[in-house]
Amino acid sequence: MTASPSAAALDGALFCRIDPATGRTVAVVPARCREGLHWLDPEQSPVTITGGHLTVACPRCDPASGRGAAWLLAIPGPCPALAELDDAPYLGRYRWALTGE
Ligand SMILES: [Zn+2]
Repeated sequence: MTASPSAAALDGALFCRIDPATGRTVAVVPARCREGLHWLDPEQSPVTITGGHLTVACPRCDPASGRGAAWLLAIPGPCPALAELDDAPYLGRYRWALTGE
C-alpha cells in the first residue's frame, strides 16, 4: 500500500483537455522540469503514476538538491490514455519564476 502524498507536497492537479477530434481526454504534462530549467524529453524523463498521482522527474537536475525537480500532480478522474507536453498550463507553478529573458 502506497501512502498518498499530502496536499502540501502536491504541485496541484494534472491539466487535462478533451481532444475535439476524438473526444478523448488528453493529459497535458509539463514541458519543463519543476525547477523550470530544463525541457523534458519524453524518452528520458521518467514518468510514474502511483495512487492517482503523476510524477515527472528531471534527469538533468541534481537529486541531491532536496526534493529535486520532480513534478507531483494529482490526476483528476480516470487516468487519460493519451498525453502531450505543454508548459502553458503550468507557467505559474514553476519553482523559479520565469522572467522570459
Ligand atoms: Zn531540471
